[in-house]
Amino acid sequence: MDKKKEKRAIQWLRSFEPESEPYYLCYSGGKDSDCIRILASLAGVKHDIVHNLTTVDAPETFWYVQSIPDVVINYPKLSMWRLIAEKKVPPTRRRRYCCEVLKEHGGKGRMKITGVRWAESDNRRKNNDAVTIVGKPATTKKTAESMGVEYVQNGKGGIVLNDDNAETRRFVEHCYRTTSTMVNPIVDWTDRDVWEFLGHYGCASNPLYQCGNSRVGCIGCPMQGSGGMKADFARYPKYRNNYVRAFNRMLRARTEAGRENGTWKTGEDVMAWWVGDDPRQISFLDEDLEV
Ligand code: SF4
Repeated sequence: MDKKKEKRAIQWLRSFEPESEPYYLCYSGGKDSDCIRILASLAGVKHDIVHNLTTVDAPETFWYVQSIPDVVINYPKLSMWRLIAEKKVPPTRRRRYCCEVLKEHGGKGRMKITGVRWAESDNRRKNNDAVTIVGKPATTKKTAESMGVEYVQNGKGGIVLNDDNAETRRFVEHCYRTTSTMVNPIVDWTDRDVWEFLGHYGCASNPLYQCGNSRVGCIGCPMQGSGGMKADFARYPKYRNNYVRAFNRMLRARTEAGRENGTWKTGEDVMAWWVGDDPRQISFLDEDLEV
């Protein structure tokens, strides 16, 4: 394990700890969130461990999360099934409304700890560093400049900080309540760093990894592509049935709203398209996605 990275992660957590309240630690039940949970404990910083239930989490993940002491489980207002009918389109790679509604809510005005890592995607590399601040870009930049803070603007209109000197600490404390501010202590960790760290601290992690899964996200998540979605539905057929029922309700909701259903007659038709077995609806749905 790279002890330098571990030491620096602990230092960042201590440097940016809010004065008056605990951190809001975003805990998904995956390996990266186990790292931040252990790091927060090693750093001795106050923190609330919060898991946002999506309603399509694998049962293994739910059981694992429940086994973590002191975890707070947030239940969403809408299940994935109701959300699909309400949005009137299935979630797709281009339209991940479910993440926004089911996974990323909560912690408003709180300083968050995330397990975001550059190794996960180019987007994460481009948009994050030790601290990521999203929201009120003009005001935030002005404040940073007036406080003499060095920052980089990311492609999403947020700003990122890669240092924990006195100015950045004061700045983060000053603006976290009115923005969405995230401390990312393992931002530059590789997969190997993660597994070595968890092994060193005796964390067995989510049992799905031992079943050969490289990710432990939602069942049927479109981000994993057709092969992953089909593998999920072979393993969890009841969830597939629930999606088909949700697609049936979605089609009824579309009809009631006066929208076309194109080649989709049943929830099974939508499922076939969704997992990549029927390309016919794509142009129709692309139009829809522009809405
Ligand atoms: S299914 Fe995928 S895109 Fe939707 S909430 Fe889960 S992780 Fe996010």
